[in-house]
Amino acid sequence: MFDALQENLGAAFKTLRGQGKLTEGNMRDGLKLVEKALLEADVSYEVVRTFMKRVGEQALGEKVLGSLRPNEQVIGIVYQELVNLMGPVDHSLHLKGKGDVTVLMMCGLQGSGKTTTCGKLGKMLKANGRRPLLVAADLQRPAAIDQLHVLGEQLDIPVFSDRTTQDPVKVTANAVERAKKLEADVVILDTAGRLHIDSELMDQLKRIDQRCHPDQIYLVVDGMTGQDAVNSAKAFNEALELDGVIMTKLDGDARGGAAISVKEVTGVPLKFMGTGEHLENLEPFHPERMAGRILGQGDMMSLVEKAQQEFDQDEAKRLEEQLAKGEFTLDDFLKQMQQIKRLGPMKKVLGMIPGMGSMLGDLDELDAEGDLRRLQGIIHSMTLNERRKPKTIDQSRRRRIAAGAGVEPSAVNDLVKQFDTIAPIMTAMAGKGMGDRMKMMKQ
Ligand code: GDP
Repeated sequence: MFDALQENLGAAFKTLRGQGKLTEGNMRDGLKLVEKALLEADVSYEVVRTFMKRVGEQALGEKVLGSLRPNEQVIGIVYQELVNLMGPVDHSLHLKGKGDVTVLMMCGLQGSGKTTTCGKLGKMLKANGRRPLLVAADLQRPAAIDQLHVLGEQLDIPVFSDRTTQDPVKVTANAVERAKKLEADVVILDTAGRLHIDSELMDQLKRIDQRCHPDQIYLVVDGMTGQDAVNSAKAFNEALELDGVIMTKLDGDARGGAAISVKEVTGVPLKFMGTGEHLENLEPFHPERMAGRILGQGDMMSLVEKAQQEFDQDEAKRLEEQLAKGEFTLDDFLKQMQQIKRLGPMKKVLGMIPGMGSMLGDLDELDAEGDLRRLQGIIHSMTLNERRKPKTIDQSRRRRIAAGAGVEPSAVNDLVKQFDTIAPIMTAMAGKGMGDRMKMMKQ
């Protein structure tokens, strides 16, 4: 998948290998190649521009980690920015409880793989204990009804069709009624497609939307069509407010640009990808895995290991020095929290190591931007003495600090209590590795 992009990015990172320190000068050539690779993969021009701006700013602003080579550092930044571009993705189909009918409306241009994807989705739902009903509301393409019946038979999933009418709105409305009788709990509407987007198609889809109030609307696009797929997602989203995009044919020669751009251009996440003609070839789309795949797993793993070692060593040394002085203040506490936050973007990378996921789970709470800013606000509203000796913070000081930080006095109290719990643990942590420290924090 996306072989050319992977190769070209690999070549771009090679040019940075062996460079001592990232400077604007020595990075320019490497980043130019990254940009070229993305454009060649048919990533939208606008997306490439903002992407390169973000990567460039970060790469230059980044503290140079001693043990990481510049190319590794840039790979890390590119990885994180790719993940940010493509995510976050909520894979849930937002199905209602059993007994209630959820209506999923599938749209797409002819040949995008819409009918096939209806079957794939039906199979996936059935495997999860749901009772789907496939509905042939594509009256545009006569063979579409037969195609859906064939899929239904293969999958042993009921199919609703009505060859006596040309009105898809009627078909879908009747189908939802029928679903209740059949005790089906998910209705999958295979709506009409056209070769091109036209107002008649959009009007028809809007009428189905208004009459049947689908719970989720998904657009199926052909990943091989590159920017056309992104443009049609934009047009459909303007007419229908899509809940997600399903991109098909990513098993073929798709260059990758559509998958990378669609979320950034339309704001609609890519939820699933079709990776073959068979009915089991539908996978949830994971930005982290996709970015890892594009950048080459091997490189990622060595990067992860080194970054983790670096973090371990830096942290252990700093902490030990601090604790050796017999002091652990609220300022240190804040630094610790910031250190953990620095791991934030790395968290996704580290999460790729088997077994790390559960350990990193707690970081979600710890690295929340807002929490940290609040914490910082409170600590910065304290005098140096208060930061050193939080026990001296009485009621009137608490009120003053809270007013300064724009929080309730109870928040100041909570922070001091949190600090009281953590300070002795920090002292006990001296000399321990990051893994042990995280375990201790969880206890
Ligand atoms: P529709 O006109 O949008 O309903 O398209 P179809 O469902 O009939 O699919 C058009 C063609 O694309 C068929 O030959 C499918 O087998 C093929 N197709 C659909 N999804 C995929 C996919 O993920 N990978 C590949 N390789 N082919 C696919």
